[in-house]
Amino acid sequence: MPGYDFDLFVLGAGSGGVRAARVSAGMGARVAVCEDDLLGGTCVNRGCVPKKLYVYASHFHDDFEDAVAYGWSPVSPTFDWPTLVANKVKEIARLNGIYARLLDSAGVKTILGRGTLVDAHTVRVGDETYTAEHILVATGGYAVVPGIEGREHAITSDQAFDLEALPERIVVVGGGYIAVEFAAIFNGLGVETSILYRGEIPLRSFDMDVRTTVTEESRKKGIDVRLETNVTRIERAGGGFRAATTQGDEIEADQVMFATGRAPNSRGIGLEEAGVELNRKGAVVVDDYSRSSVANIHAIGDVTDRLNLTPVAIHEAMCLAQTLFNDNPTKPDHRDVATAVFCQPEVGTVGLTEEAARAEYGAVDIYRTSFRALRHTLTGRDEGTMMKLIVDRASDRVVGCHMVGVHAGEIIQGIAIAIKCRATKAQFDATIGIHPTSAEEFVTMREPVADATREAAE
Ligand SMILES: Cc1cc2nc3c(=O)[nH]c(=O)nc-3n(C[C@H](O)[C@H](O)[C@H](O)COP(=O)(O)OP(=O)(O)OC[C@H]3O[C@@H](n4cnc5c(N)ncnc54)[C@H](O)[C@@H]3O)c2cc1C
Repeated sequence: MPGYDFDLFVLGAGSGGVRAARVSAGMGARVAVCEDDLLGGTCVNRGCVPKKLYVYASHFHDDFEDAVAYGWSPVSPTFDWPTLVANKVKEIARLNGIYARLLDSAGVKTILGRGTLVDAHTVRVGDETYTAEHILVATGGYAVVPGIEGREHAITSDQAFDLEALPERIVVVGGGYIAVEFAAIFNGLGVETSILYRGEIPLRSFDMDVRTTVTEESRKKGIDVRLETNVTRIERAGGGFRAATTQGDEIEADQVMFATGRAPNSRGIGLEEAGVELNRKGAVVVDDYSRSSVANIHAIGDVTDRLNLTPVAIHEAMCLAQTLFNDNPTKPDHRDVATAVFCQPEVGTVGLTEEAARAEYGAVDIYRTSFRALRHTLTGRDEGTMMKLIVDRASDRVVGCHMVGVHAGEIIQGIAIAIKCRATKAQFDATIGIHPTSAEEFVTMREPVADATREAAE
């Protein structure tokens, strides 16, 4: 568009922003992206990637123990936190470099600094202003710490990755996937770990069988899971901290980590002044095509608070590029998005929960199995696996699939394709399993569980 410096100006070089910038440039658009912090955003620097590296680290303790049952001599391994942090820092720096090169080779102009809107077509970064036909807000979110007394003593996941020393005791506050994952990481690394959640059972919005299994398995691993409990105050105590709880007791730890939710990064960057509507939580309100209330300003990823996951932000970015620069209006599809929780054992899930399936379809059949994985027949480790299918009785379609068990994330990714293709239970049954695996249970569960049969028959 003549008259503007760029066709597209992106605020935020995270998962969504980088993909939108690169793909749009590939379609011939003149694109700039500004980034306030490190290229790659939350996922690369403070989210998925470092977290998964720490998850790997946290598994070795059990692996060393289990090896003995398979004939390996016992070892007394020691763990060095600074080595893990240093290796993580090196890997992230490598990824930051890759992101810079990818943007550069796509012909995107990368501008380091915080972008703010001057008006609907103008962005200021530092002392410079840039104009663009389209502006994309891809500024992500930030961890929220509740306003309790002593909140300044608490850390969030942002700081947890780079602590100078591994704490001996940690209290994790929250019940979402980040809280559950970090509790598992610290517990696996040998830290005395408590998780405090104000609700009845962690992982709200996940299937209830997943939630109860994760709670049970976490307890079996030694995590002190305290439900219907919140922290009301934190104060210094010795070299660590003392947290007062809503149950009237106190708990001491070397670190208190809040994982109590995230909020969109949307304030103070000129959005409201430009006429962009934000909802009560501060998320940019967008239509089905990721367009805000101002026609040339768009938003994707966590700042829109739709489904806050990296592959979703990337998908929204690809759809937006199609819409704006390939003459192909494309709506992001948020249904049946598979996801994992990397606790121990991990969760993989796709489609509807049993509760949501009953609300949407009425009569559903539930297929569920719980067992100890073959690996642990020799080790004797008391670690359960739970697998569940939810089937719409009228159409025979599998509408939900949930697993808690080793490699659940890897397994569910494949199942997600079947669910996206609207596979029926009969087609699952016609699929021959891979033996011996846990995954084969998904194609060999023949009898619905009794209570579901009864309910469906009523
Ligand atoms: C601890 C943790 C673990 C997670 N684990 C997973 C996981 O396992 N799987 C998964 O799918 N998702 C995971 N997520 C979520 C995932 O990281 C986000 O959904 C994803 O990063 C969202 O991408 P985005 O592009 O919307 O925002 P982000 O990746 O957050 O990028 C936004 C970028 O915008 C920049 N920015 C903000 N304001 C401005 C401004 N005014 N000017 C310039 N730049 C600005 C920020 O610095 C940031 O780099 C995790 C998140 C956290 C916190």
